[in-house]
Amino acid sequence: MTRSALALALALAVSPSSALAYCRTTTSAAQPDPTRCPTVGEPVAWATGCTSLRINPTVLAPGISLAQFHSAVEDSIQAWKVVACNATTRAAPSFELVLLPDADLDVGYEQNGANSNVVTFRATWENDAYHPSNAAAITVVTFGSRTGAILDADTEFNVVGRYPFSYDGGPATTDLRTVATHEFGHTQGLAHSADRAAVMWYTAGQGERRRTPNADDVAGICAVYPPGRAVRCDPELREQALEGGGATCTASRPSTRRPAGVVSVVAAAVVAAAIARRFVARRRTS
Ligand SMILES: [Zn+2]
Repeated sequence: MTRSALALALALAVSPSSALAYCRTTTSAAQPDPTRCPTVGEPVAWATGCTSLRINPTVLAPGISLAQFHSAVEDSIQAWKVVACNATTRAAPSFELVLLPDADLDVGYEQNGANSNVVTFRATWENDAYHPSNAAAITVVTFGSRTGAILDADTEFNVVGRYPFSYDGGPATTDLRTVATHEFGHTQGLAHSADRAAVMWYTAGQGERRRTPNADDVAGICAVYPPGRAVRCDPELREQALEGGGATCTASRPSTRRPAGVVSVVAAAVVAAAIARRFVARRRTS
């Protein structure tokens, strides 16, 4: 597992045009400025037609039931799944997220074993390089440092964050579906966007609901996975691999050693009080 070293903040890529603000995570280190794309490194992406997520059901946030956690994750997956890359043909991106059965798995990347993209609440938050204290959630994306092929992406929701999660996005809470949709953008290789209305904007204010990818988000995901790629989607392969080595997957947190050729980058959704207040006035109903 790897989570060690280097990479920390978010990574980005180059903005494709002045009209678009999305960024892609790249093989360069982090994204020091969440409103600017990096100009170095290769963009990262999954090489397949899908990847799967697994909910860890053993930790919940106060006020969020397991059924609501499931619903939020499913809605957030669906929000990305229904986008159209072409207004006329309605062609979809050639990539999708698939939810597999729950499993009590720890986050991290195992170089020589089965992996799973874990979605989990965390009741402790280390305040380390991967877990900034002001983050509502993070997604750690692990990829080959030369190929840019994403190998693993785990999403952690900060239960002890500044504002409690809610299912309905009520006042003074963090809307779980808004944050989950944002984090799953990172899972797919997107970095932060400079478009404040985008799902991939880097903050989520109190009570703010931003659950639907906007035109900038759609342009981003369609750039990463354009329609028509000849790729296979077989999430069950991951499940079979997990069954073969499942015991070891649940054992413990990852070691601090980072396998050669593999880099992890953390992408965080930050909740900041000042920005939160600004967003209150712009709050949307859904
Ligand atoms: Zn983020």
